[in-house]
Amino acid sequence: MRKLGIVGFGTMGSEIALLGALAGLEVAVASRDPEAVPAGKQRLAKLLRLASRDEKFFAAAAVADDSAREATLARISAAGYSDFGDCDYVIESAPEDLRLKTFIFEQLAAHCRQDCILATNTSSISITQLAEATAGPQRVVGMHFFNPPMQMALVEVIPGEQTSPETVQAALDFSARLGKKGIKVAETPGFVVNRVLMAMMNEAMRLLEEDAASMQDIDDAMRLGAGFPLGPFKLADLVGLDVYLHTCESIYRQSGRESFKPSPLLVKLVEEGKLGRKSKEGFYKY
Ligand code: NAD
Repeated sequence: MRKLGIVGFGTMGSEIALLGALAGLEVAVASRDPEAVPAGKQRLAKLLRLASRDEKFFAAAAVADDSAREATLARISAAGYSDFGDCDYVIESAPEDLRLKTFIFEQLAAHCRQDCILATNTSSISITQLAEATAGPQRVVGMHFFNPPMQMALVEVIPGEQTSPETVQAALDFSARLGKKGIKVAETPGFVVNRVLMAMMNEAMRLLEEDAASMQDIDDAMRLGAGFPLGPFKLADLVGLDVYLHTCESIYRQSGRESFKPSPLLVKLVEEGKLGRKSKEGFYKY
């Protein structure tokens, strides 16, 4: 494999592009905003400096000194779909919007080679439905990264109904090449991590609404009694309460399970614009 295509250069796409460059690939980025790539690369340069201090970093040679870091960043360039003809692998990480992603997959099917694998980083949109926008649904697969991709070591690999076993294996192998552990998950609402995490966090919110314990005590309980690095309220503030609510609503809609019904307290905070750390107030003040 030589060339990776990335669609969308926001929170997730920019760091996934960097992971590709660190793995030695040429990375072509299609972004809506032409300025996004040069601006985003400045932020990525800082991440490379941080990574150089981590002795266990998976691509130590690519961050070893200034010239190695510059060479890594130089492998990432702004592109259009017409530059995707020689890509071996593409990861789409545009906003979570079915119409937009369908349009992007139509473009990818039109411009990429028949044997190029087309992956999506969607959190909740059907892989099977996106694959229908292409003539080759067997090569379409979900690759769900975690935020921030440079730090989080997991990728959930999700086959659609027609994804071939070879494509699933290629996605698992590619996850390893990007320094991640890939796990295969069925196309089920929330996949594994969000499904387990959100049920737990919703339960914490219910306990608070029932006045069973204070917010700080519930956070301490899960840190000290269950070994979590962050309590559920601190974690929800970090994720962003709007993002959390959106994911929760999506899993609730798809699964119908009461454990994913968003808590009224969460809905109220989002309506008030209290979105967590990014807005300086959520469950906590920052
Ligand atoms: P983001 O808004 O930070 O980035 C999206 C990027 O796509 C932006 O740079 C935007 O300019 C660009 N874009 C918009 N329209 C485009 C188009 N037509 N063509 C190309 N680029 C376009 O969003 P994000 O948080 O990076 O999320 C991207 C995807 O990753 C979503 O599907 C989301 O569900 C998924 N995801 C997000 C997280 C997270 O925690 N943020 C975690 C896992 C998966």
